[in-house]
Amino acid sequence: MNIKTTDELYIAHTYNRFPVEIVSGKGSMLTDKNDKEYIDMGSGIGVNIFGAADKGFIDAVTKQLSLIQHTSNLYYTEPCVKLAKALCDKTGMKKVFFANSGAEANECAIKAARKYAAEKKGADCYNIVTLKNSFHGRTLTTLAATGQDCFHSLYNPLTPGFISVDAEDKDQIKTVCESKKIAAVMIECIQGEGGVNELSGDYVNFLREITKQKDILLIVDEVQTGCGRTGKLYSYMNYRITPDIVTSAKGLGGGLPIGAALLGEKVQDIFSYGDHGSTFGGNPVSCAGAYNIISRIDDTLLNEVTRKGELLKRALSASKDIKSVSGKGLMLGISTEKSALEVVKKCMENGVLCLTAKNKVRLLPPLNTPDNLLVKAADIIINACKGE
Ligand SMILES: *Cc1c(COP(=O)(O)O)cnc(C)c1O
Repeated sequence: MNIKTTDELYIAHTYNRFPVEIVSGKGSMLTDKNDKEYIDMGSGIGVNIFGAADKGFIDAVTKQLSLIQHTSNLYYTEPCVKLAKALCDKTGMKKVFFANSGAEANECAIKAARKYAAEKKGADCYNIVTLKNSFHGRTLTTLAATGQDCFHSLYNPLTPGFISVDAEDKDQIKTVCESKKIAAVMIECIQGEGGVNELSGDYVNFLREITKQKDILLIVDEVQTGCGRTGKLYSYMNYRITPDIVTSAKGLGGGLPIGAALLGEKVQDIFSYGDHGSTFGGNPVSCAGAYNIISRIDDTLLNEVTRKGELLKRALSASKDIKSVSGKGLMLGISTEKSALEVVKKCMENGVLCLTAKNKVRLLPPLNTPDNLLVKAADIIINACKGE
């Protein structure tokens, strides 16, 4: 079978794929159909955080798979309970709702916030403020939350009740919070798809202050930034704030689908039986894998992520063809003269897989990528950034 033409025939054309068929991997190295090897600087968009074919992850998943693959939420299972407890112990959040993707985790956060506000401030207090250039998912509600008009135009009407404001503009959000009925403010501490834009400590602290004063919930979307990516377990921990709701997905599953909404003190009891649900949510195989992942994100690993991130940033910043490098830990965005897509294509030719985010080259390598591979990848990226 010719995969490319068969894919074109039978798969909906939502993804413009690169002409590469990945067949296997080990750690931070991936192999394609023609036995060409690549350094993986994207980890499946921040998912395979311990790389490919990781032994601990495989053992945890296969052990559970051989016991029972799925039960539905009608019954108790141990993996989801252990995972929920670990997430709460490590964050101070109080309760967890499990879903299957980032978008669904955010849907849950939005539902929790709307119910909280409706009960406390009335049914007309439903607005959620998000930031321009944010990305929160592809369902109609999370698209409405996504502050990028380019995603919206074909799918109107979207779920009403979302207002987007410019990041870092304190007056703008203050005016919105004072003039409209607001249930929640939802942010990514580092915008991923929007271009690896890091929010300043000053702004994040301001948001926490103003939301606390007005009993507006602060939701932090950690779908991309979570699970050690930025050198902390969750990126909000870089700011010493406590959100009311945290959402997690991508890296949490280590490669299997999972999403989680972590509910803080104010909303821990917001849902009653029947208020929300998911057939697959809390699936025991996904949760067993995720528990293995979460248990291994300790201070030693996090310090290594910070160190590796600085190493990579330093190596890249030395190039005169790279204008700037944004981001934190192993979540980096590279601004170049050349178009990001051209750089990514050139890197691919030379054996490095990278991502784009708007007009930047985005790097989300596995958190345990050896230093020598990071240095080698940086060389290839720098080369790809050179003018013709
Ligand atoms: C990827 C992403 C999502 C959506 O996650 P899916 O699993 O694709 O639904 C939501 N928020 C952020 C910040 C993301 O990076």
